[in-house]
Amino acid sequence: MNEIVTAPVPRRQGEAQRVARAAYPFRCCVVCGLQIPTCLTVAHLDHAAGNNDPDNLAYLCQTHHWMYDAGLYPLEAIKMLRAHWQQTQGKASHAARMKDAGPRAAATRKRRAAARKAWAARRQSTDEGPTVD
Ligand SMILES: [Zn+2]
Repeated sequence: MNEIVTAPVPRRQGEAQRVARAAYPFRCCVVCGLQIPTCLTVAHLDHAAGNNDPDNLAYLCQTHHWMYDAGLYPLEAIKMLRAHWQQTQGKASHAARMKDAGPRAAATRKRRAAARKAWAARRQSTDEGPTVD
């Protein structure tokens, strides 16, 4: 028999955890942002358990780890999200939605003032009652 026997690649999960922790200090699932430490796994993006290069690792929750392994997320998307979570540190920015908040609030104040004035005018005319000659 000419069978080539290769030794299984050691998984070295402890090393993967240490490398990921050092490379990605903000720990969350890069897809959904879940931050519960016991729910996070370290995914090997090339599916090679022995490759613990920081670029090959990403934190994923169990669900998204399974979905990544099933080919439902592209590698580039995971890497992009991983970098984005590290940059934002999980803090939301509402700047894009609030860019015209000042003028909108001013328009609302103006509309409400006009409505209050109209209501006061109607109330005053009904309080006076119908005029009798
Ligand atoms: Zn997730």
